[in-house]
Amino acid sequence: MAQQAIEFRREVPLRHDVDVFVAGGGPAGVAAALAAARQGARVYLAEGQFCFGGMGTAAGLPLFCMFTDGVNFLAGGIGREIYDRLFAMPGGVVRSKRGDSSIQYPPEALKVVYDEMVSGAGLEFSLGTHLVGVQSEDGWVRHAFCWGKSGLFAVRAKAFVDATGDGDLCAWAGAPFEKGDAEGLMQPGSLLSFWSPVDWKKAEEAGNGQWRQEHRLPEAIRDGVFSVPEPHMPGLIQSGLHAGVGSFGHLFGIDGTDERSLTRGVIEGRRRFHEYETYFKRYLVGYEDMELVGSGELVGIRETRRILGDYVLNAEDYFRRAVFADEIGRYCYGMDAHPRRLEDASRSVEDFKKLRLKKGESYGIPYRILTPRGLHNVLAAGRCVSTDRSVQSSLRVMPGCFILGQAAGVAAAMTAAGDADIRSLSVPELQGRLAELGAYLPNRA
Ligand SMILES: Cc1cc2nc3c(=O)[nH]c(=O)nc-3n(C[C@H](O)[C@H](O)[C@H](O)COP(=O)(O)OP(=O)(O)OC[C@H]3O[C@@H](n4cnc5c(N)ncnc54)[C@H](O)[C@@H]3O)c2cc1C
Repeated sequence: MAQQAIEFRREVPLRHDVDVFVAGGGPAGVAAALAAARQGARVYLAEGQFCFGGMGTAAGLPLFCMFTDGVNFLAGGIGREIYDRLFAMPGGVVRSKRGDSSIQYPPEALKVVYDEMVSGAGLEFSLGTHLVGVQSEDGWVRHAFCWGKSGLFAVRAKAFVDATGDGDLCAWAGAPFEKGDAEGLMQPGSLLSFWSPVDWKKAEEAGNGQWRQEHRLPEAIRDGVFSVPEPHMPGLIQSGLHAGVGSFGHLFGIDGTDERSLTRGVIEGRRRFHEYETYFKRYLVGYEDMELVGSGELVGIRETRRILGDYVLNAEDYFRRAVFADEIGRYCYGMDAHPRRLEDASRSVEDFKKLRLKKGESYGIPYRILTPRGLHNVLAAGRCVSTDRSVQSSLRVMPGCFILGQAAGVAAAMTAAGDADIRSLSVPELQGRLAELGAYLPNRA
């Protein structure tokens, strides 16, 4: 049956009248809002959850991928500040044992880091606030509409940053996008789970500590422990002295832009927790006492819309370690596309091992991947920027999103100051301002 459409019209209060509106306060949105505020712009940041950080907090992820390429600190500026503040948190963070520049942390600690940075930045913000629509004319967005417990309200801004992860604002304003592969399949989501106590020392000594928990999966699969027999899992990641975050049980076929699909995902994720509990307790050492103490407020989503911009950063650029005249940063994490379906599971793990860059190597990120086609005063930031699926699987990780968000924030402030098109700003000036913030820009003229 064709879906009926109902017109919904009403007047809503104009609550924020600012230079820059940032939708979404994950790593990209926080970086964008802070960067725009540091340029002197009046900023309003709306975040749907009751914490900043997106996947790295609300979904429960406890691990930053690479901040550096092993030689250079790529997420310079705001990314660097977040990194330093985390290390300074009471209780400390757990350093990665992978030997790269990734760090592990308790998600609650990261929430406080973001709270402090955003609260001290002189910008307007509210949590529990969802972007629900936009009003635009000929590619110029004039107002955004948000919903919070007080009801609907409007935000007027000169420039907009879409840091929703899913490209909601860009898509609703009419920007073209791609989603998934030719069949529309995307990387699977994961519902993260929190477990304690874990005896990490004992697990390590028994040879099944962090990143070494997979070896008995085949046996457990044969024993019928799992209803979905996945041959691989990222595993239980240490997030504190005695705590761990479970990143296991891929949710295949879930679309993070559709709440009905997310509903199926969250129910499926919760259903499978006890299977992994059985695996850890019955087949591994060090996990005997662990209990489920919680799960993510958000389903962990790796991939949804890729907003088509003036350039699409692609695998060829990654492999040639591309340099661009309009570079706003460089990044290096390997292509890490989780399997779209169960049958592809083994291949994607092998691919990840093959598709890494070497120490000191990185690829350029051009400004044009932040500028959505057909829109004049909107910038995309974070995992929805204009890339092919291969590059998305590298750039989507949080330090990459700090680089993207920081650049989008500065560009939005410049756009708002000139009341101009995002394409008319001076790229050398943008790069100069980014360099002042601490961005890594070795190819700047
Ligand atoms: C299971 C899993 C494991 C991962 N592992 C790692 C890892 O080990 N290391 C790493 O660095 N990265 C990892 N990533 C990737 C990384 O966490 C995300 O890609 C990254 O957080 C994306 O940042 P973002 O700011 O673009 O979006 P998100 O982190 O998704 O943040 C978007 C924010 O916008 C808010 N939002 C969305 N829609 C709206 C709306 N309409 N109105 C208002 N607010 C809205 C959301 O609540 C959220 O806070 C992982 C991701 C997943 C799912």
